Amino acid sequence: MEASKISCLQVDEQLDSVQFSLTNVVERYVIDEPPEDAQAVLKRQPSIDNLLGHFRQHLQERSAHHLGHPLSQKLDVGPLAQFQHFHINNIGDPFVESNYGIHSRQFVYAVLDWFAHLWEIPKDQYWGYVTNGGSEGNYNGLLVGELYPEGIIYASRDSHYSIFKAAKMYRVQCIKIDTSFSGQMRYDHFRTKLLENARRPAIVNVNIGTTVKGAIDDLDEIISTLENCGFRDRFYIHCDGALAGLMLPFIKQAPKLTFIKPIGSISVSGHKKIGISAFMNSKRTIVVFERPKDEVFVQKWQLACAGNIAHVVVMPHVSFEMLGIFVEELAEKRYALLQDKEFSIPCVAMDIGQENCLCKLHENIRSSL
Ligand SMILES: *Cc1c(COP(=O)(O)O)cnc(C)c1O
Repeated sequence: MEASKISCLQVDEQLDSVQFSLTNVVERYVIDEPPEDAQAVLKRQPSIDNLLGHFRQHLQERSAHHLGHPLSQKLDVGPLAQFQHFHINNIGDPFVESNYGIHSRQFVYAVLDWFAHLWEIPKDQYWGYVTNGGSEGNYNGLLVGELYPEGIIYASRDSHYSIFKAAKMYRVQCIKIDTSFSGQMRYDHFRTKLLENARRPAIVNVNIGTTVKGAIDDLDEIISTLENCGFRDRFYIHCDGALAGLMLPFIKQAPKLTFIKPIGSISVSGHKKIGISAFMNSKRTIVVFERPKDEVFVQKWQLACAGNIAHVVVMPHVSFEMLGIFVEELAEKRYALLQDKEFSIPCVAMDIGQENCLCKLHENIRSSL
């Protein structure tokens, strides 16, 4: 197997405003077919072992420098390793019997019962299943939303790209609602758009924690806006709780997610919930700052960037030591930049507010006050 380094442009139009690193050096392998004689197969084995060993090292190194995405790298699948050798498949709908016996539906029902209780749905009045991740949860939530074939999907600009992808896949019109700098939907804009499309039902994605800023849309405000605009009984609400859906129940004063309110579906994510302890200590797990100019640095720490901002997500694998090294490097890079007369600090007022923006314009406004 040969490895060649290529540069690939990693911009997905689906990502829209959230563009992750622009250039990424990826190793690309060429697959060669297995040799026919047993001797040659044996001879090839060490190079395969070597390749896999390198891949493992690569993942270890990348995990040790991971700050940008809300995924815990502290993952222990030990007890589950014993199931890797089975072709477990929960074929079809978990509530429709199947004669494929190698499944884990008994666990799926337990998980669903647990959430039904948490979100106050009467027993046996729900449907759901354990998906492969948050995106698939959104695809299902919004598909159910298609009970309204004439409907329009409304989602804030800060929604996860899977929401916009769902709209494309289902060929449903999607209207993006502006957000305030905190990342929450702007309800006045939502209202304007609803009134412009008053004849068509509304399918609304409500963010329970946006990917970049961790913002939680105000469900009650969204429901009352719908009702005030004449949408009573003509709306469907899906809550994307991939980021914070599992954190809310453990935070005092947090708004409560419950099916007693007129919502149709909620999706949550297992691999993102693991940040609970950090979230509780500081209320938020995400720190947003000016996007560093140095792409190599951005890639080293795998920072997720959107426009002029980047963010760090504090997950359980992130140690004080790791953050210390990161902050020191960040400060060094920024100091070096400031020495450059050509450099001007980017404006981040739209993203994190004027009072947090150090660009010339906003500095001047502040000093003239
Ligand atoms: C990460 C995320 C998703 C998608 O989850 P995957 O498991 O990556 O498919 C959806 N919505 C939000 C808000 C997210 O942060």
